[in-house]
Amino acid sequence: MSLQTSVERFVKANKVMVMTACLLFALAFVTTLSTGAVVKPRQKTVGTAVVDVRDDIVEIREELERLKSVTNKVYPEVPILNEFQRKRILITGGAGFVGSHLTDKLMLQGHEVTVMDNFFTGRKKNVEKWIGHPHFELVMHDVVEPFMIEVDEIYHLASPASPPHYMYNPIHTIKTNSIGTVNMLGLANRVGARLLLASTSEIYGDPEVHPQTEDYRGNVNTIGPRACYDEAKRMAETMCYAYEKQNHVQVRVARIFNTFGPRMHLGDGRVVSNFIIQALQNKPITVYGKGQQTRSFQYVSDLVDGLVALMNGNYSKPVNIGNPDEYTMLQFAEKIKDITGSESEIVYKPLPKDDPSRRKPDISLAKREIGWQPKVSVHDGLVKAIKYFKAELDAGNKMVKNGRRSGPYAALDLYEKNSQT
Ligand code: NAD
Ligand code: UDP
Repeated sequence: MSLQTSVERFVKANKVMVMTACLLFALAFVTTLSTGAVVKPRQKTVGTAVVDVRDDIVEIREELERLKSVTNKVYPEVPILNEFQRKRILITGGAGFVGSHLTDKLMLQGHEVTVMDNFFTGRKKNVEKWIGHPHFELVMHDVVEPFMIEVDEIYHLASPASPPHYMYNPIHTIKTNSIGTVNMLGLANRVGARLLLASTSEIYGDPEVHPQTEDYRGNVNTIGPRACYDEAKRMAETMCYAYEKQNHVQVRVARIFNTFGPRMHLGDGRVVSNFIIQALQNKPITVYGKGQQTRSFQYVSDLVDGLVALMNGNYSKPVNIGNPDEYTMLQFAEKIKDITGSESEIVYKPLPKDDPSRRKPDISLAKREIGWQPKVSVHDGLVKAIKYFKAELDAGNKMVKNGRRSGPYAALDLYEKNSQT
């Protein structure tokens, strides 16, 4: 086996370590030679042949240059915390829209982050900038299967969140949020980790109380098209408190309201991305029903701040995390037209079954218990999101029908049918 082949094999398995070792070795060797500390031997015996070691040095130098070009990745700067401050954190669904922003925040705080994701709706691209960083791991895994790891905290986000996506494979949505949550609570119990569940405003269903407070118990149709998500999240919450009561697992439950921002997939199918993409392309903006239903939208950085504050606080009951700024969908379409300067017409499509007629969080509890409230206005958040979507469209990431043969992004066309029964 040639020297180059063996170096390549070993290096593939231990890139960073080998690079550092080689660099140190080469530096020491070259320094020694250049200072004249060792003049002999410059020859070594290979079999019966005597060869000049300087050839090896040249070869190693070349190999180092090649490796540098592969691994010379510049990472965002992270603080170096000591062993007692640096937490080991698992984020399930960390390659998704929210999870990837949470990853950034925790990495930038200096913690060790493991992202576990099955890439159902998430993408490697979302966490690409951290791949190879010594504080970061990316594991492809389905949370429905047990997962063993030693961690201090678990942010359990794995679950499709967009209605077209969670309705695409309702059984898997149920399994992800039920079996997946049991798996994560079991893990938290075994290793003594604190677990935060990404729950949702959907647990309030089509609410009769407005704005929604945490003590409102909700109005969910158990057999409607949204039930696979709503009921599974409700059950996930129940499981958290069963594990808290019976096994003393430390749990946190965030009831997340509609969130938007960069890294939403072009095929996400939720209202913010749909409207922006349509407006940017001067295509008709699709308002479902008469557009009189309301939602309240928060920018993703606010959500991430809220999740971290909740995880680190002492309050263990469910907390609404959302921005109370409420719009009808018609107002929202006009707002996006206005910011983008679009000439899109507004067209009306059938209202999905059980589509909640209004939604707005009461965030008094979040303010009081974890000292959190949103900082980014909907307008400012939209400007940032529009910039992101424009860049995606300009980069040629247009939605191509039938470009993918499976998965939720291939199934947006099924939504009209899936959401009616
Ligand atoms: P997303 O679809 O972008 O991200 C979800 C991630 O979970 C993806 O990376 C996906 O691949 C992964 N995932 C799905 N099923 C999995 C499985 N079985 N095993 C492992 N990974 C799996 O959605 P998001 O908007 O980032 O939502 C994240 C979490 O926040 C979800 O739990 C969602 O229910 C909750 N939430 C989000 C919103 C919102 O407006 N974004 C609102 C309420 C609740
Ligand atoms: N909606 C719409 N046009 C779209 C997508 C969604 O009018 O192209 C409406 C949808 O009927 C709902 C609201 O926008 O009333 C928010 O929908 P989304 O799918 O973003 O999330 P939801 O809050 O329903 O989970």
